[in-house]
Amino acid sequence: SHERLLRSERFAAVGEAAAYVSHEIKNPLMVIGGFARQLERNPEVSQTASSKLRIIIDEVRRLENFLGELRDFTRPAPPFKQEADLNELVQDVAAMMGEATQEMGVKIETKLANTLPLVNFDANQMKQVLINLVKNALEATDSGGVITISTSAWEDQVRLSVTDTGKGIQPEIMPQIFNPFFTTKKTGTGLGLAVINKIIEDHNGAITVESSKDRGTTFTISLPCQS
Ligand code: ADP
Ligand code: MG
Repeated sequence: SHERLLRSERFAAVGEAAAYVSHEIKNPLMVIGGFARQLERNPEVSQTASSKLRIIIDEVRRLENFLGELRDFTRPAPPFKQEADLNELVQDVAAMMGEATQEMGVKIETKLANTLPLVNFDANQMKQVLINLVKNALEATDSGGVITISTSAWEDQVRLSVTDTGKGIQPEIMPQIFNPFFTTKKTGTGLGLAVINKIIEDHNGAITVESSKDRGTTFTISLPCQS
């Protein structure tokens, strides 16, 4: 199945509330995490207390991570675009994520176009897009799987795809995957694809997804060469 999933700003109100809540929670969380780490290092702390502190520290980190994703989602700054080569960004991210994926028994491969026209994009934001796609691919793929990042030029567009050999996306949930907070994961935030969608919109691009059960998923992003 092939579905077009470009959305307009349907979630502005959610975003504003989220930014406010995130701001209010950040500082108390830093205090909790800081004291917990300090206590954990104290040799007088008992074994039971220490194992509970570990849980506090891990959960605080999970919340901080969530707030980070929430901040990306609500980031009001417009993209700072510069003409650049998307292949270079792909190589950076592949190298950066390679270690983490290798640890999970998943290989990252790149299939890059020999030459790509330059495109206007915000390097940090596009890096975020690619990282989120690779993270999702990794989370859907068992050991022995492969994640392929490819680039190509097509008409007046540059295309970037992330393909995995993972479990696929069920057609029933396909219409929801870009919604903020939609997740099928136990500790997911449901913000990865929402962030991607917003960034791609800000770049006048489009994102499509093709998936089949147990065979894998491909997310494809197209960016206009002139924008
Ligand atoms: P999260 O990763 O926190 O769940 P995302 O917005 O990144 O949030 O993804 C939303 C949902 O889309 C995931 O929970 C998952 O069900 C589905 N999904 C996204 N990418 C993939 C993929 N590569 N393979 C299978 N399912 C995916
Ligand atoms: Mg995700």
